[in-house]
Amino acid sequence: MTAAPITIALSKGRIYKDALPLLRHAGIEPVDDPETSRKLILDTNRKEVKFVIVRASDVPTYVQHGGADIGVAGKDVLMEHGGADLYEPLDLKIARCRLMVAGRRGSGGGAARTDGKRVRVATKYVNSTRHYFARQGAQVEIIKLYGSMELAPLVGMADCIVDLVDTGNTLKANGLEPLEHIADISSRLIVNKAAMKMKHETVKQLIDLIAQAVK
Ligand code: AMP
Repeated sequence: MTAAPITIALSKGRIYKDALPLLRHAGIEPVDDPETSRKLILDTNRKEVKFVIVRASDVPTYVQHGGADIGVAGKDVLMEHGGADLYEPLDLKIARCRLMVAGRRGSGGGAARTDGKRVRVATKYVNSTRHYFARQGAQVEIIKLYGSMELAPLVGMADCIVDLVDTGNTLKANGLEPLEHIADISSRLIVNKAAMKMKHETVKQLIDLIAQAVK
């Protein structure tokens, strides 16, 4: 592989853990562990390849603005970001889950409210939620939260939530149930448009090796 410098934006946690074997297949191994290191730029076994560790929701922004050449981001984050100025060449098929409407057990459908009032939906996925309910022709009030969405229906602040569901255990533990499926989610490889052009050979090789690993 030619030695064009490449920066890869990753977030800690599930995505990092699941992306590592794919990157390893492409010959890239981190030197430091982001879970224990405080460094935000991590060296790898290849001196021209660095990882930058950012918040999951910031990965598309770093890649869009050239702060990183490549990134791994959940489809949920990409849908919310809008995907402008990014290539999304590969579904990595990791960190799979579903984006769903959920509400209190036995409360009825997500957008159903019998008293004629607007349904209140708590979520961090404001754009995806707005689009989804608009497609259903339902007018909803969206309450933006940054986490622990499950709490909002329990304290009467919202009628339902829009959040990621994997096993459904978090919903169940909080007396909630999945109501409507919005989208299947998995992590995607994203590439900065200029990097795709200027570092084409290196980026293309990396995409091909990771694609093999996905298979
Ligand atoms: P579960 O209890 O397995 O349904 O997981 C649901 C909780 O984990 C929720 O708080 C979700 O926001 C979070 N979650 C599930 N899958 C993912 C994923 N692929 N990426 C990030 N967060 C997730």
